[in-house]
Amino acid sequence: MNIHEYQAKAVLKEFGVPVPRGGIAFKVDEAVKAAEDLGGSVWVVKAQIHAGGRGKGGGVKVVKSIDEVRSKADSILGMTLVTHQTGPAGKEVSRVYIEEGCDIDRELYLSALVDRATSRIAFIASTEGGMDIEEVAAKTPEKILTMTIDPASGYSGFHGRKIAFALGLKGDQVKQCVKLIGTLYKMLLEKDASLLEINPLVVTGGGDLICLDAKMNFDGNALYRHPDIVELRDLSEEDPAEVEASKFDLNYIKLDGAIGCMVNGAGLAMATMDIINLYGSSPANFLDVGGGASKEQVMNAFQIILSDDNVQGILVNIFGGIMRCDIIAEGIVAAAKEMDISVPLVVRLEGTNVDMGKKILDDSGLAIVSADNLDDAAKKIVAQVKEAA
Ligand code: GDP
Ligand code: MN
Repeated sequence: MNIHEYQAKAVLKEFGVPVPRGGIAFKVDEAVKAAEDLGGSVWVVKAQIHAGGRGKGGGVKVVKSIDEVRSKADSILGMTLVTHQTGPAGKEVSRVYIEEGCDIDRELYLSALVDRATSRIAFIASTEGGMDIEEVAAKTPEKILTMTIDPASGYSGFHGRKIAFALGLKGDQVKQCVKLIGTLYKMLLEKDASLLEINPLVVTGGGDLICLDAKMNFDGNALYRHPDIVELRDLSEEDPAEVEASKFDLNYIKLDGAIGCMVNGAGLAMATMDIINLYGSSPANFLDVGGGASKEQVMNAFQIILSDDNVQGILVNIFGGIMRCDIIAEGIVAAAKEMDISVPLVVRLEGTNVDMGKKILDDSGLAIVSADNLDDAAKKIVAQVKEAA
């Protein structure tokens, strides 16, 4: 799960990590009020969306008067911000964060994530922070340090000093860095975060370290033990069909192809998507109905697949292991009878009572095409969609 920058900064602050002061605003007047409350003479108006690259896209503005706070907040709120991370459609901005201005001497890069290869938390640091870190990674990867922490021995000052050295920090900054890395490590573990990116981590004119930007991701499987983090979820940042699917325990990911897939098990879903591609079409989604595949579950799944206008055909590919194929077939027939499925539907069942299942499909009187195996199913749905077009 993703959260906004201002929320991530609140979490950092809770752990004592230095972040600029700021206030969140949904309306222009609230932005002005936030700036007035902060005081000072320089503010930064920052669009809050779940994507990076906001600076380059025009979503981060440094301003020097309250009038400018008002005009920038007015232009950013409601704008569709397009960055290299949002995709061409962009994201609508519904909240801005107003921060006190920061006197920047150097912009550094710091991030931490769960590294699957080593099964450890890895910290990544570079002196080349700011808005071009992707280019640094591509062209001068030697300027990026990666360091992992062994969970058995945990964090020690040595880790922090290694990062401080890589970042070219001196004197008291080294101490600040040692404390920072230790705190971040503790926070990642306590909050079950899967990713934290601070870009830029800034050395101020006064020589102190402060986190000027923060992106944070959490492990979805651990959210049950973090009600405070769940509260930070912003559903408007997520695909509406994916949110709807999660209510029914369906794993649905929208893709941009033409064939809707209803499958049980993620492995089978991957194989189904591959074979659709092999026969010259592409999947409209990834939908795993899980072990159940009851009539209700199948109906919910059809509804979600059909809510996508790109869907020109549906391929159901279900393995009846514990759940028998005849029961699944009954579910599919019942769902199809109650709903208006206006696109070709190919069903491939395999497993226990498969012959009974096929017979139920064939006897249903519905325009359901049954397939003998995965290959046959993919060929049939691709051909049906072509014919219908
Ligand atoms: P991102 O583009 O989505 O990663 O947004 P950031 O929060 O990283 O902001 C982009 C850039 O704006 C930073 O790299 C800074 O150069 C600049 N910036 C952000 N806050 C301040 C600030 O308080 N003062 C100044 N001078 N620049 C800032
Ligand atoms: Mn940034």
